[in-house]
Amino acid sequence: MPDATRSPAARGDAAEPAAVAELPDPPAPADVHARVVDWFAEHARDLPWRRPECTPWGVLVSEVMLQQTPVARVLPRWEEWLRRWPTPADAAAAPAAEILTVWDRLGYPRRALRLQAAAEAIVDRHGGEVPDTREELRALPGIGEYTAAAVACFAFSRPEVVVDTNIRRVHARVFSGAALPGQTYTAAQRRLAVELMPATEPDGGRTACAWNAATMELGALICTARSPQCAICPVAELCSWRAAGFPPPTEEQKTRGQAWAGTDRQVRGALMAVLRRGEPVEPEALLDGLDLPEASADQRRRCLDSLLADGLAQRTAAGVTLPQ
Ligand code: SF4
Repeated sequence: MPDATRSPAARGDAAEPAAVAELPDPPAPADVHARVVDWFAEHARDLPWRRPECTPWGVLVSEVMLQQTPVARVLPRWEEWLRRWPTPADAAAAPAAEILTVWDRLGYPRRALRLQAAAEAIVDRHGGEVPDTREELRALPGIGEYTAAAVACFAFSRPEVVVDTNIRRVHARVFSGAALPGQTYTAAQRRLAVELMPATEPDGGRTACAWNAATMELGALICTARSPQCAICPVAELCSWRAAGFPPPTEEQKTRGQAWAGTDRQVRGALMAVLRRGEPVEPEALLDGLDLPEASADQRRRCLDSLLADGLAQRTAAGVTLPQ
């Protein structure tokens, strides 16, 4: 019999479906809140955007950078960004080419331009101060539902419902007994996230905000997608997935990893790396010079055209450059 008290990774039998126990009743949210928030108080990473001295602008920049990129890669870029542009007004006034150069290899560089557009709107509409409500944040260009809720919560202590991939996974395992939450954020998951929020009356939403941050951290550090560390998890005794014997993910729940090699993203990234050097490059030299032997001429040209269309590159008389 598989040991249902240990995660599949810990048992070394991830490929073997475990014997599936009947799904238990989900735990009481209040019991989970207390354990996860206490664990966070002791084990949270000391990240600069979590420190009390971090400005709302610093929190906003971190949330945009972290959307598709791991913390380790974000840290140096975030520090450089805040050093150069400590306020929205500074970022709004910066040349787009410099914004993209500092973004470096964080990926999805349209985020950098959208962040600058948000900075401009903050200057125009809010006197240079990051607005403090989810609704006003959501109205900024390029700021989606998640980022608006996260900034309202983490920068302004507003008890908004914050749900990212890590939080969805913890909710799915602890409360729904599922291995993974699936690709799509469903209405049912949203309802569950709302129901799970701690009440805001007793402490003005402090526990609710801590719950958001703590659940996110638990998913990032302990309840990871591939190797959950149930042996040191603060809610192991309450976890529905563990109690059910770690049933494997259904086809619908499985997350498909994003390929990189050979994709247009890789080719676009290689083109941007050349442009970030700062010198105009003749289009043919730019396309021919890529060290990607598997990328066809058609793919190279298509990717350059898409960078031009996205405003991430520009044709000038001297050649292709970052937007001037
Ligand atoms: S919540 Fe804890 S016990 Fe449950 S799967 Fe994640 S790490 Fe394991």
